[in-house]
This record gives sequence, structure tokens and C-alpha cells, in this order.
Amino acid sequence: MANIHNMTFLKEKIDTLKEEGLYKELVTLEGPNESECIINGKKVINLSSNNYLGFANHPRLKQAAIDAINLYGAGAGAVRPIVGNMKIHDELEQILARFKREEAVLVFQSGFNCNAGTIQAVTEEGDLIISDELNHASIIDGARLSKAKKTTFKHSDMDDLERILKENKDKYKKMLIITDGVFSMDGDIAKLPEIVELAEKYKAMTYVDDAHASGVLGENGRGTVDHFDLHGRVDFTIGTLSKAIGVVGGYVAGKKVTIEWLINRGRPFLFSTALPPAVVGACIEAIKMLMESSEYTDRLWENATYFKKNIKDCGFDIGQSQTPITPIIIGDESKTKDFSKKLFEKGVFVSPIVFPTVPKGTGRVRCMITAGHSKDQLDKAVDIISQVGKEMKVI
Ligand SMILES: *Cc1c(COP(=O)(O)O)cnc(C)c1O
Repeated sequence: MANIHNMTFLKEKIDTLKEEGLYKELVTLEGPNESECIINGKKVINLSSNNYLGFANHPRLKQAAIDAINLYGAGAGAVRPIVGNMKIHDELEQILARFKREEAVLVFQSGFNCNAGTIQAVTEEGDLIISDELNHASIIDGARLSKAKKTTFKHSDMDDLERILKENKDKYKKMLIITDGVFSMDGDIAKLPEIVELAEKYKAMTYVDDAHASGVLGENGRGTVDHFDLHGRVDFTIGTLSKAIGVVGGYVAGKKVTIEWLINRGRPFLFSTALPPAVVGACIEAIKMLMESSEYTDRLWENATYFKKNIKDCGFDIGQSQTPITPIIIGDESKTKDFSKKLFEKGVFVSPIVFPTVPKGTGRVRCMITAGHSKDQLDKAVDIISQVGKEMKVI
């Protein structure tokens, strides 16, 4: 028998990934994540970050991080329920609650952690979780940790959602509908007004994960609930501090009682160390910047609208996108990867996204437009994408 410590079982699985074209390797950034950056030694226009507002390397965030280190140190020193809860953590939650126009907020160490902790804490045996089939991996994992029964509805299909609600309304103690606010692979927005109406009709709770809407949709980036003016009608709003906010972290916004419960029963909150002061300080500064001015979100949308129009005019298929997420649908998996490779050679970095992240035959390069891109960079990117598109007969 082979020596188990050789990890042959992993090598075999990796070989299978390679055969199926699903093997991933990391690229390395030499310097900050900006609209133009150095990747694997090459200067390229970056169309793949979630740094929507250009905050990741913003001088105000960096200064706030340094100030927080000077006041509170490099680490929090404990989980928050023991002795890691600093004044700066409370301040972040207070400003987030005001920003989100909700009663209260609880911050977790990441958006992933937030879903992993919250879903299992607010559901139990005898409940039903009803999840959009395209929801993010952290929602899927979060639901797996719950003792509730789980089912999915077809992506944004309100008839399918209503069918499930109708069939199950008397069978469970509680029902919880979960949806992404903005779907990350297509850039479409959840039909939140319809979901909320159905939830109210069938007495279900609602849970929106606004990772790609935080800092993007709604007044100055307040999210999908604000975008659709549904304040007070969504039970759990999840936001991330890792994408548009430019740092790292996640939060739940909702009723005071929800936050009280999660302080007692949110497992990543209870058992994983508090976010470091630098992160918290930078996040507070980012939220202040959004509350002060619409300058950043305005520039994001102006850039996104400009880029999407020009890409569409070239004849590319950008699917159902309603947000700065701009998929350019290529189709075939290996063609998609070649497309991305050719773009990189010409100076544009856009990572390919293929099955199983998206359905077979819908491979795409997903362009992420940010407030940090200059018109020049966007023009140059469109030029290169259109050149490669013609070369490869995509357009
Ligand atoms: C990115 C993402 C997360 C994870 O957020 P992190 O803060 O990066 O952990 C969770 N949910 C959705 C929908 C996401 O797109």
C-alpha cells in the first residue's frame, strides 16, 4: 500500500482537476490592488478586483489604519466576548447602523464568517431555508451548518419561489428566504420587492447578502434594501467590508434583538478573534467617506455605464448585468481561458470564469469596473478586448 503521507490521494484529485481544465494557480500582485497593477511581473489594467470604489489603497483609509494601530495596537488580543471588544469595534457598528438605516449592526471577521455564523444561529430544526440556486458559497455552507431543512428556488424565479412557499407554509415552524442582493457572476440584482411581498404573504423571514451591493447600490452605496426603499421589511441584511469598502470584514444589520442573539450565539463571533484595530479604523473611515459624499459611487457608476456601453457597441454579449459587474460571455471553457490569456499578453488582466462556477458553455471573462479606473484605462481596455474578440472570432 502507498504511504498515506505522500498525499497520493490529493495528487490524484489534482490530476483530475487538471484533466478537466479546472485546476487553478495563483497570480501574484507586486504592490497594491489598483486599477493598474503589476501581476506576475507585468504591468496590466486590472479588471478583476472587487475594489469598486478604489478604497483598498486610499490614503485616507491607510492613515486611519495607522492611527488605529497607534491607539489600539496591532491586534485585538482576544475574541470579542472575552476581552477583544475595543471602543473602535463599537464605533464601527454604530456608524454602520446609521449608514444602513437599521436598528443595530454586528461585525464579523469576514462576509463568509458572517453567513457561516448567522444562518445557523437564526434557524433550527423544524425550519425551512429557501435559497436562490445561484447564492454564494458562503450561504450554501452557512445553510449546511443549520439543522433546518434546505431547498432552492430557480434563480430569481418568483413563480418557483411562490410554489415552494405555498407548498410548505404549514409544514415548518419558520421559513427563511435567502438571496444575494447582486449576483456576482452575472451582475443582476435580486427581485427584492417581489421577494419581500411573497415573504410577507407567506409569513417567511428574509435574508439578503449584499456583498456586491455594499458601497455600490442605493444612496451612496447603502445597498439593495435602500435601492428598492425596503427599509424595515428585510429581516437580515448582510454586508461585506471586503469588497467596495476596500478592507476586510462582514456584518449583519437588523433588529437590536437579532444582534443581541448573535452576540450570544454567532459562532465565528464567539470563537474567532476580533478584527484588528487597523482594519476597523480603515472601515470606519470608508463609511465616513460614503456618508460625506456621493463622489465615489457616482464615479463608479459613470465608469461602469461608459465601459458597458462601449463593450456592448463592440458586439459582445454582456448577459443580464445591471451593475458594474460586466461579464463578457465567450461560451466554451478553453476558449474563455485563451481569451483571458491573450488579454493578459496585451496588458489587460481579467480572470476567466468557467464551469462549475457558472453553467457549462457559459464561460466568461468577468470585468469588474471601479471608480479608480481612468477613462484612458477603460478606452485602452475596450480596444484590447475588441482586438482579441475579433482575432478569436467572438465578435
Ligand atoms: C464575496 C462574497 C462573500 C464573502 O465576503 P468576504 O467578506 O470576502 O468574506 C459573501 N457573500 C457574497 C454574496 C459574496 O459575493
